[in-house]
Amino acid sequence: MIWMRDNFYILFTLVLTIFSCSGCGVAMMSDERLARQSNVQFSEMKRKDPVSKNIDYQKMIDRIGKRITDVAMVDVPGTDWEFVVFDKTEPNAFAMPGGKVGVNVGLIELANGDEDEIAAVIGHEVAHVAKRHSNKRMSQGVGVALGGIILDTAMRKKSSKDRALARGAYGVGATLGAVLPFSRTQEREADDLGLIYSAKAGYDPRASIRFWQKMKSRSRNKMPQFLSTHPDSGKRIEYLRSRMPYVMGLYNKAKKT
Ligand SMILES: [Zn+2]
Repeated sequence: MIWMRDNFYILFTLVLTIFSCSGCGVAMMSDERLARQSNVQFSEMKRKDPVSKNIDYQKMIDRIGKRITDVAMVDVPGTDWEFVVFDKTEPNAFAMPGGKVGVNVGLIELANGDEDEIAAVIGHEVAHVAKRHSNKRMSQGVGVALGGIILDTAMRKKSSKDRALARGAYGVGATLGAVLPFSRTQEREADDLGLIYSAKAGYDPRASIRFWQKMKSRSRNKMPQFLSTHPDSGKRIEYLRSRMPYVMGLYNKAKKT
């Protein structure tokens, strides 16, 4: 039943969004408005969800975040970036319009605290924000919400576990704005730009391959939340490998300066 409520909530919010967007003609929110909504939602998450008390983790995420957003600044000037570590075991990270980024303790631990690997994820998240992917997804949001209801009906005879997986993959019931799943094209864009950001910030881009391999072997048993909102863009690891000659050049140059 929670399910129906979530569907209803999303639909209701989206309908509200369209109708309150008078004069703009399309179901697209302005960047400022989306950023404002994200800020409210992020504050709520910080209040409701456990924020990590591990100062070292928070300092590390702030340090990586600063280096990467210094590079990304040219693409998204004036963004008020904020990085928060959540005390959750699921290896997950997310970014919201306006520059709010959450990283779970479980992700830091999956990376064994390797800053290059964590920088690969943060680079990817910052790239989603820089490319305004959430905004673009929102404009397709009604389709997503309706699709979710259809999907739920179609899955009615399946086991509850399968249903939960399908719902997770679809992102319905997810928090508005934060975690509508990105498309595979957007994932590839974020992989590409994320690599460029982290390499230019002086983080070894080869770490991205290590990290995604870990994620992949973990996902054999169950689908981590991160992969449900960041679907594998097909041959992700192969793609990252193909980009190595270029980004290693950027990385080596960044190390020298
Ligand atoms: Zn992604």
